Amino acid sequence: MSSSLPSPRRVRARLRRRPAGDTSGGTVWLFDLDNTLHDASHAIFPAINRLMTAYVARVLGCDEATASRVRVDYWQRYGATLLGMIRHHGVDPADFLRAAHEFPALAEMVRVRRGLAAHLRRLPGRKILVTNAPQDYARAVLEIAGIRHCFERVVAIEQMWVHGHLRPKPDRRMLRRLLAQARIAPHRAVLVEDTVSHLKRYAGTGIRTAWVTGYLRTVAPSRPHVVPAAPAAVHDDGSRRDAAVRSTLAAEDRRRAGHAVQERSVTLVAAETQAPQAQPDNVPRVRARVPNRPAYVDIKVQSMHQLQRRMRRTGS
Ligand SMILES: [Mg+2]
Repeated sequence: MSSSLPSPRRVRARLRRRPAGDTSGGTVWLFDLDNTLHDASHAIFPAINRLMTAYVARVLGCDEATASRVRVDYWQRYGATLLGMIRHHGVDPADFLRAAHEFPALAEMVRVRRGLAAHLRRLPGRKILVTNAPQDYARAVLEIAGIRHCFERVVAIEQMWVHGHLRPKPDRRMLRRLLAQARIAPHRAVLVEDTVSHLKRYAGTGIRTAWVTGYLRTVAPSRPHVVPAAPAAVHDDGSRRDAAVRSTLAAEDRRRAGHAVQERSVTLVAAETQAPQAQPDNVPRVRARVPNRPAYVDIKVQSMHQLQRRMRRTGS
C-alpha cells in the first residue's frame, strides 16, 4: 500500500504548485497586473514608454521624435504600438516585448501596498493573472510583490494568440477561449482591471467587472499624446507642426472637460504600456479624476484591501 503513496518530494512539489489562500468560493478572479496589483505609473510605465520608443526608432532608423509620432499613429489605429509594428514592419512580438520590459533594477521599481498578499489570500475564490505584459516580466513582478503563490495560473501575452493572431485584452475571443479552457462559466468570473475601456469591452459577455482606481495617474490637462518640441529645433517645420498640434489639443481639452474626456484620459494613460507618452519624466503625474462608476462596472474599488472588505461584507 505504501508504494502507492506519492513521494515526499512529489507532495512538496504539489503543495508548492497549489495556490495559497481561500480557493473555496465559486468566484474566479481574473486579475490584471499593472496598475491593478502594483503601482506601475510610478516608474515602470515611464521606463517601458522610453524603451518602446527607442525600439521603434531602432527598427525604423529614425530619431525618437519621429518614433513617438509613429507610436501615436499606431496606437490610435490599432490600439497598441506592437500591433502596428507587427503589421507594418514584421517585428517579432516576443522580441519587441522583451526589449520593452528589460529592467535591470525591477525590484526597485515595483511598488505595492502593504498587506497585498494577505488581502488576496483572504479573497475567496480561484485567482488567475491575465496580463498583456510578457510572461517573464509578469512572473518577476509577482515574485517581487510576494504574491506569486496567490495565483493558480499566469496568462500573459504569449498565451493570447487566437487562430494565428495576437489578441490581447480587451479581445473577447481570447477571454472566451481562456474561460472555456479553464472550465469557468462566464458568470463566475470577475475581471479586475484598472483600464476601464477593457471592462467596457466585456460588457454583455456575462463576465462581472471590478474597476480598481487607486493607481490611476494622469498628466494635466488630460491628453497624454503630445510630442514635445525639441528646444534646439523650434523653427523647423516638424516642431512648428508639433506646437500647432499641442495647442489644438490643449484648446480641445479645455472645451471638452466633461465626463467623457476624463474617462478617456484615464483610459489612455492606464491603457497598458503601449499608450505612447512623450512627456519628459519631470512632468508631474497627478492622481486621475476618476468618473463615477459606469453601468458596465459592477464593483469600483481603490485597492485590493477595499475589494476584500467589500466581498466579506456582501458575502459573495
Ligand atoms: Mg493595467
